[in-house]
Amino acid sequence: MRLYLDVDGTLLRRSGHAKLRGEFAPAANLPRFIEWAAAGFECIWVTSRTRHGSADKLLPILRQAIGPGDEWDRMAASMLSFATPVWHDFKAQAMKLDEAFIWLDDAPEEESLDALRDAGRLDCWIQVALEQRPDDLRRIMEILEHHGSPQR
Ligand SMILES: [Mg+2]
Repeated sequence: MRLYLDVDGTLLRRSGHAKLRGEFAPAANLPRFIEWAAAGFECIWVTSRTRHGSADKLLPILRQAIGPGDEWDRMAASMLSFATPVWHDFKAQAMKLDEAFIWLDDAPEEESLDALRDAGRLDCWIQVALEQRPDDLRRIMEILEHHGSPQR
């Protein structure tokens, strides 16, 4: 199954420690989540940071948030398979709405929600609330594992 992933507010949050690790702080368990997602889903970035069709601007920000080392190396290897579709106006333009999927995003645009609603796929969106719950990815993994075994 496809897993569409937002970044800001979903996997990264504004850091209160700008001097230490850069502007953004990772969600708790982010490296584990990425490896887990890569193993079970067809992962697709849908963030303004990749909408030009490449992760070249995203990966340095993730690396800075995680910090160099084995954890980052494993996470980076997992992300090699993540797709980066081009989109222009709103995120749902990058999605195949006629097939089942999961979309993790803290704050989708109204145009995207309308497109999902029109396609009967609104329940494919799961809201992440990282700013309120830094360990929200743990909840997401539990939800998706109960969703049925994820398949490629
Ligand atoms: Mg977001």
